[in-house]
Amino acid sequence: MFHPPFCPNPHCLNHFSPSGHWFFRTGSYSTQTSPRIQKFKCKTCHLSFSTRTFSIDYWTHFHLPYTTILSHLVTSSGIRDLSRILKVSCSTISDRIRRLSHQCLASSASLTSDMNLHEDLVADGFVKGYPKSAV
Ligand SMILES: [Zn+2]
Repeated sequence: MFHPPFCPNPHCLNHFSPSGHWFFRTGSYSTQTSPRIQKFKCKTCHLSFSTRTFSIDYWTHFHLPYTTILSHLVTSSGIRDLSRILKVSCSTISDRIRRLSHQCLASSASLTSDMNLHEDLVADGFVKGYPKSAV
């Protein structure tokens, strides 16, 4: 059973620190790509959202295999090459690459949020813990 991690409303109290039963289920609906999508409502701000709100495929019309896209990107395949392989348009591939990159950035930020550096670090032009005036 899916449990929403937080309220998608950035102005709601449950966005940053959801606690207890902060939402209730309000039914479900189906689309051509997903047979059953659970709907929720926040008890504090009354915003409605669904399981798709937290999905990488939010507001898409069909699913594409992200592992295939990622494996071809790693091997330097182009957008046109991927569009031929997956039989979709180049703009769809660009959209999925953008979604994938946002997920990678969020994962990186989440993984490094607890990281404490004991000394200044500079790697490939990225600077962390170094004063901006000195760069
Ligand atoms: Zn809320």
